[in-house]
Amino acid sequence: ETGRARRGGRVVLAEPRSFCAGVVRAIEIVEEALRQYEPPIYVRKEIVHNHYVVRDFERRGVVFVDSEAEVPQGAVCVFSAHGVSPAVREHAADRQLRVIDATCPLVAKVHQQTRRYARDGRTILLIGHEGHEEVEGTYGEAPDRTIVVADLADVERLDLPRNEPLAYLTQTTLSLDETTDVIAALEERFDDLRGPGGDDICYASQNRQNAVKEIAARTDVVLIVGSRNSSNSVRMVEVSARAGTPAHLVPDVTELDESWLAGARAVGLSAGASAPEFLVDEVVERLAELGFDELELIRTATEDITFALPSGLAPPRRATA
Ligand code: SF4
Repeated sequence: ETGRARRGGRVVLAEPRSFCAGVVRAIEIVEEALRQYEPPIYVRKEIVHNHYVVRDFERRGVVFVDSEAEVPQGAVCVFSAHGVSPAVREHAADRQLRVIDATCPLVAKVHQQTRRYARDGRTILLIGHEGHEEVEGTYGEAPDRTIVVADLADVERLDLPRNEPLAYLTQTTLSLDETTDVIAALEERFDDLRGPGGDDICYASQNRQNAVKEIAARTDVVLIVGSRNSSNSVRMVEVSARAGTPAHLVPDVTELDESWLAGARAVGLSAGASAPEFLVDEVVERLAELGFDELELIRTATEDITFALPSGLAPPRRATA
């Protein structure tokens, strides 16, 4: 008997999963830019961290660039959902680019907090992963007074006096549990520490991680659909592993390794905030072929949040008499 002949395996699908409000808005912004402007439309960095989304836009006349310096003078340039530093904004203005900003409002909020703490003269501890675009952008708000802290070891290494006026902020897509530990360690070590009163991890990351914990508790292995450079997707894999259930990132169905499923009766499935739902559907179909043909849905939250498009992008209003 082959694995394919197996029947009665279960797939436990997590909800919420897949697109968040910030990703929906960023994609809608590029769609609207394509409707309103002649291609090519330039987008600085991947609009969201998903290769399918990027490739689909490329086919339709969007050119993705690493830097605003690559965009021809005066052309339309969209900033990605992860946000940009003030230096990038200034450079784009110098080049007279027609900027459309797809920064997620929840990332923009962290930028605003960074500016406020910098004005107050505090040293800012930005909890996050060096090299991620969101961290680069937030860091750029106050590069002279910001230190990036990734984990507990980084907290130990901080060479600052106990009474240093500090503020911490966090990347929006971190793991809830790890971030709580890092904040607790900072509170322990420093006396004058301000913060957002918790963390800046966004509702979508929190909801997806909570849902993953639920499915991890009920399954033998967990699959997370998402690209490798998607921070929130990678955190979902870690959350499952931390809960004791092995987990794997599946950028798309072709990367699903059957050996992960050996001996499993129940497979947990979810998707990061930048992963389109059709990629999940493809994995569900493949799992059914492999004998996991029962589908169960675990919903741990209902999301109804949406973000409006930037006002400059709304279709032009007709003049009224
Ligand atoms: Fe915004 Fe969170 Fe989505 Fe990032 S994951 S785009 S911060 S809602």
